[in-house]
Amino acid sequence: MSWTNYHSHTHYSDGKFEPEAYVQQAIAIGLKAYGFSCHSPFEGGHGWNMNPDRLKNYCEEILVLKEKYKSKIQLYLGLEVDFIPDVIGPKSAHILESHLDFTIGSIHYTGTFADGRYCEIDGPHQFFLEGLNKIYGGNVKLMIRTYYQLMREMLEQETPTILGHMDKIKIQNEGGHLFGEDELWYQNEVEKTLDLVKAKGVIIEVNTRGIYKGITIEPYPSKAILEQINAKEIPIMLNSDAHLPGEIDKGFRDTAKLLKNMGFQQMMALVDGKFKAFEFNENGLIF
Ligand SMILES: [Zn+2]
Ligand SMILES: [Zn+2]
Repeated sequence: MSWTNYHSHTHYSDGKFEPEAYVQQAIAIGLKAYGFSCHSPFEGGHGWNMNPDRLKNYCEEILVLKEKYKSKIQLYLGLEVDFIPDVIGPKSAHILESHLDFTIGSIHYTGTFADGRYCEIDGPHQFFLEGLNKIYGGNVKLMIRTYYQLMREMLEQETPTILGHMDKIKIQNEGGHLFGEDELWYQNEVEKTLDLVKAKGVIIEVNTRGIYKGITIEPYPSKAILEQINAKEIPIMLNSDAHLPGEIDKGFRDTAKLLKNMGFQQMMALVDGKFKAFEFNENGLIF
């Protein structure tokens, strides 16, 4: 019985250490498999995106580690890919040419300012508000709808292996001051997106980063969305979105317990080169 994690960053994007430091920690805590998913490189990407010049080295370094540690842990090469129509997506040429084991498709950018800068949903609230006011005329509903619309465009046109932190935009809605997650229009957006996830055979990650960073009480996605995911029998995967070696399995125990209590029976893992479903409990996946 052990954990897996496929959402992780290194110094190639906004993680703190070289890839090997994460591998050594993953081995020390007994992970069965570990995947690297640094932020995708593209021209115009923000500081936390990988510099396009580093992509080749990143892929080579992970492949060397894969071989070096193969008797101790299974390592996989991936990227957390942004989606900006006609700019970057999981099916961009340089992503396909990297021959990745998996992609995590995540929406971090929602809209473009008149001066060409991208509006980020993941950064400081002030920056989000600037986008809300300048791009969406202060219309919160329009902005959130666009966020989910972009997610569906990505799922439809450039289907990733895994959908990253689905409702992360909620971090900008602290205390529900911008919208209610129980409002019908919001639930409709979520439901339409989940139906497409199901139709496309994409895995939804349950991401613990918001919890252990003290930003959210529930994982991404929220419990209400997880209930729908369970009802629709969409496959899930537990990921930590680790930026530090010490974050590799953070929040797993409590979140696995929550999922189990909600009635989830299995979660997906990439082992022996294939995605398969495994039973789990609060101590890990049962291999
Ligand atoms: Zn992300
Ligand atoms: Zn991430």
